[in-house]
Amino acid sequence: MLLTIATTHRPATDLGFLLHKHPGRVQAFDLAFGKAHVFYPRADEECCVAALLLDVDPVELVRGKRRDGRGLLVDYVNDRPYVASSFLSVAIAQVFASALGGRSKERPELVDVALPLEATVAALPCRGGETLLRRLFEPLGYCVTIHGDDDDEPSRYRNLTLQGELPLAQLLAHLYVLIPVLDNDKHYWVGDAEVEKLVARGGDWLASHPERDFITRRYLRHRSSLATQALAQLADEQSDEEPLAPGVNVDGETAGPETPVRLNDARMAAVAGVLRDSGAARILDLGCGEGRLIRELLPFPQFKEIVGVDASVRTIEIAARRLKLGRLPGAQQDRVTLLHGALTYRDRRLEGYDAAAVVEVIEHLDPARLRAFEKVVFQFARPRLVIVTTPNREYNVLFDALPADRLRHADHRFEWTRAEFAEWADRVAADWGYTATYQPVGEVDETHGPPTQMAVFER
Ligand code: SAH
Repeated sequence: MLLTIATTHRPATDLGFLLHKHPGRVQAFDLAFGKAHVFYPRADEECCVAALLLDVDPVELVRGKRRDGRGLLVDYVNDRPYVASSFLSVAIAQVFASALGGRSKERPELVDVALPLEATVAALPCRGGETLLRRLFEPLGYCVTIHGDDDDEPSRYRNLTLQGELPLAQLLAHLYVLIPVLDNDKHYWVGDAEVEKLVARGGDWLASHPERDFITRRYLRHRSSLATQALAQLADEQSDEEPLAPGVNVDGETAGPETPVRLNDARMAAVAGVLRDSGAARILDLGCGEGRLIRELLPFPQFKEIVGVDASVRTIEIAARRLKLGRLPGAQQDRVTLLHGALTYRDRRLEGYDAAAVVEVIEHLDPARLRAFEKVVFQFARPRLVIVTTPNREYNVLFDALPADRLRHADHRFEWTRAEFAEWADRVAADWGYTATYQPVGEVDETHGPPTQMAVFER
């Protein structure tokens, strides 16, 4: 697999100082999965091209160098040696460590300068096709050219050229994060440290990328808890630049202390992540409010049908307006239905769906009506996946603006501790033949836990 980086900055050979690799030499580096070679097909005043050639050793991969003694891959015949995958990212991080970190001994003044750069990546696996390539790179300001797939036989691989004016460290960071996103194959190196790496490499540009959530989830290989954690951290970064207004609830009032927009965002991203990973196509959003979750789900064709249900007609009207339901193209519009209904009465319209999300709703129900709600969802509607989120009361002490013993919102009938939520959810799961697992949403406090708690019920 081959990555080239070219510049026409004058003198172009400064690229060698920025990459910390001499243009006159061919160098080789040993990596856990093979060898990386760095050389310069061209290096003069006008133009300098650096090449990183990765020679992945499939035998080495199978034998493996993992600490747990298992191979990195299970068989010898695979595409790994020939495609740009997470191995290329690892090579970038190891071979061009100082350039990626924005350090240069000889040319420190050039580190933050936008240079005319052109990168090519050969044999980039690209399951989402060209549209995905463009969605990932164009928002970063690149002129994107894609080659390959000229044959009748459609190919998973593309050759990509990116042209732009930007600091070299940024280009490397974009590649480092987005190549594994495109590959979407197993990264043997995904673990908790990856969250930090992603935030470190992605921080500034990823926080405002329109595909931020998708990139984060793919990069972290659909591990929802990791993705949620990273999204929460990225949301924090974004808030450094533009302070986000506190959330506004359905009645147009400020929504209590707990709802800064970024917690809302993290919540929607977490729920959408679980739904996406589940493969569900027909979704119920129970207590859909203004349609925030629906808006989050709409861009993904996976969700063929989304039904929002709410007890408040006024809220449904707001949702319809916000989602621009009247103005969506026909096929898009057909995917969304908004229903007026109460979740405490059996409703046959809710039967036959793959998944239901109940986001920040149960705490609005009278405790005496919870049993009725349970039956409506778990006994009658009975989707194979149900996601329930609710505030974690233990976290309330961390909200300065919230007097002790007050709930986060005037309309909340209760707020549960983690133990209370788990007790309810475990019992519901047992009664109706589901298993419940728990995931934190938002920044987790060591003592008090996350601001929002989420239970995922599956049967
Ligand atoms: N899920 C949305 C809205 C949460 S606010 C979001 O996270 O943005 C709670 C919503 O539940 C309100 O819109 C309220 O009208 C709705 N709701 C409360 N009790 C309900 C009931 N019994 N049946 C249906 N909807 C209800």
